[in-house]
Amino acid sequence: MSVDIECVVVGAGVVGLAVARALARSGREVILVEAGEGIGVGISSRNSEVIHAGIYYPSGSLKAQLCVEGKQRLYAFCDERGVGYQRLGKLIVATDDVQRGALQKLLEQGARNGVDDLQWLDANQARDLEPALSCVAALWSPSTGIVDSHALMLALQADAEAAGASMAFHTPLMSARYSEHGFELQMGGVQPMTLSCRELINCAGLSAPQVASRIEGLSSRYVPTARLCKGSYFSFSGRAPFRHLVYPAPESAGLGVHMTLDLGGQARFGPDVEWVDHVDYRVDPRRADGFYEAIRRYWPALPDDSLQPAYSGIRPKITGPTEPAADFIISDPATHGVPGLVNLFGIESPGLTSCLALAERVTRALGDR
Ligand SMILES: Cc1cc2nc3c(=O)[nH]c(=O)nc-3n(C[C@H](O)[C@H](O)[C@H](O)COP(=O)(O)OP(=O)(O)OC[C@H]3O[C@@H](n4cnc5c(N)ncnc54)[C@H](O)[C@@H]3O)c2cc1C
Repeated sequence: MSVDIECVVVGAGVVGLAVARALARSGREVILVEAGEGIGVGISSRNSEVIHAGIYYPSGSLKAQLCVEGKQRLYAFCDERGVGYQRLGKLIVATDDVQRGALQKLLEQGARNGVDDLQWLDANQARDLEPALSCVAALWSPSTGIVDSHALMLALQADAEAAGASMAFHTPLMSARYSEHGFELQMGGVQPMTLSCRELINCAGLSAPQVASRIEGLSSRYVPTARLCKGSYFSFSGRAPFRHLVYPAPESAGLGVHMTLDLGGQARFGPDVEWVDHVDYRVDPRRADGFYEAIRRYWPALPDDSLQPAYSGIRPKITGPTEPAADFIISDPATHGVPGLVNLFGIESPGLTSCLALAERVTRALGDR
């Protein structure tokens, strides 16, 4: 069977859904193909569900721009579409003088990124907000929040379909070939078929580099190496110790073992940092030791035996543990020279926050129809 379509989006995570929605709303004929059985089977369902303010990222980076822009768009979208969220605010805490210096740098970086509502709190002010907290200083970020990521994906899917997009599940993209007429795609799954299209957008998350490497006509020079960095979460069995999100000063590959709340008020801690060479989402209960140690730096009263293994996610990194963190990559025709092709690489945190802004950039990169 062979089907001809204007635009194919690969991957039904939060980014692929937002991209399919934006492209369908721009008047394109869109099909979103997904290897799994439905939406959100990848890392979009395996994260902290935090709407980030945009503090941490280097000035002018895509992460900084798209997080700040994406946060505003996301809150507005949630209001408009009735997607559950809470603007809880977050404390980033310093537990010693070295970390106090790190917080000062974050305050300045946030201001450079356009996050103009951060407040410096001394230890007493922080404890007024969160009496159980132990710290020497904290940054208060009132615009940080949490979102129901699955409800968000359902709303994006509904919008995309209302604008005419269709979804094909159990339909992995196996390989693609570019010619002057566009792309010919070999699809696997229960009903293997050939699709031809003029625009191809790779939003395959952890598999994005692998998908790109199977596009004949795209030079391998434009395909980064995938690096996998796992983050495990543990749930807390008792009443949540804090009413706001609490983050330590950030560490190298992640933001540190933080406490987030779900919309039901249940606390969970994570994610930690573990570089891995394959995808395995099981949580090793032995990692709890590192959690008790990290959490007790800012919450000394954490009781013994109160953490249970919960779930994990894997960060789709494109640089390794000893290299500087990479920015999001929107690899578009102006970069690689293949008309109609956009590959998204390294869409780790704050990808959930940035999804609507990323979708807007992809639509712009493809230009007018
Ligand atoms: C531990 C962790 C915590 C995080 N916390 C936050 C947070 O608090 N806030 C925030 O803003 N961001 C956070 N993020 C980042 C956020 O989760 C991601 O940026 C976002 O979910 C990426 O979405 P995606 O659609 O690109 O990827 P995914 O959700 O993984 O979707 C990719 C999809 O592509 C499909 N696919 C793969 N290969 C193929 C193929 N060949 N053919 C068809 N389909 C294919 C997969 O099945 C999958 O469904 C976190 C990430 C991690 C790992």
